[in-house]
Amino acid sequence: MTVPASAGRRRMDVMTSTEPSIFSRIVAREIPADVVFESDAVIAFRDIAPQAPVHLLVVPKTEQYRDVAELAAGDPALLAELVATASRLADELADGHFRLVFNTGAGAGQTVFHVHAHVLAGGLEEASLGGA
Ligand code: AMP
Repeated sequence: MTVPASAGRRRMDVMTSTEPSIFSRIVAREIPADVVFESDAVIAFRDIAPQAPVHLLVVPKTEQYRDVAELAAGDPALLAELVATASRLADELADGHFRLVFNTGAGAGQTVFHVHAHVLAGGLEEASLGGA
């Protein structure tokens, strides 16, 4: 069976990349970010292109997991910490109500393959479901 070379190359580029992700570079303070919370395992900062009055990214410091499905299978406790962090930050920075979005796969809009939760809060009537 013949697989189109371009599709294979794209997939391999993603799977074999040894470059740190942009979020790992934020963790390492190699690039600036508006960090609102940090623990041993998790960092949270404001999204550079906000889709809601409060738009945070909550990110495990490890880039071992590309997306939420991998994280759930590999380290459910870390996923639970991500959700608890999102909830606490929505309490502190908004009214406690929030939308949690994990874009999973390029076809769903994922552009950074280092798992992250979008936390949208504070005026959600203006935020679209797919806009995160
Ligand atoms: P996704 O499309 O779900 O992979 O989300 C990636 C998110 O990262 C987008 O909402 C971007 O706006 C955001 N983003 C990319 N670079 C930065 C950065 N340097 N600081 C903060 N947010 C960023």
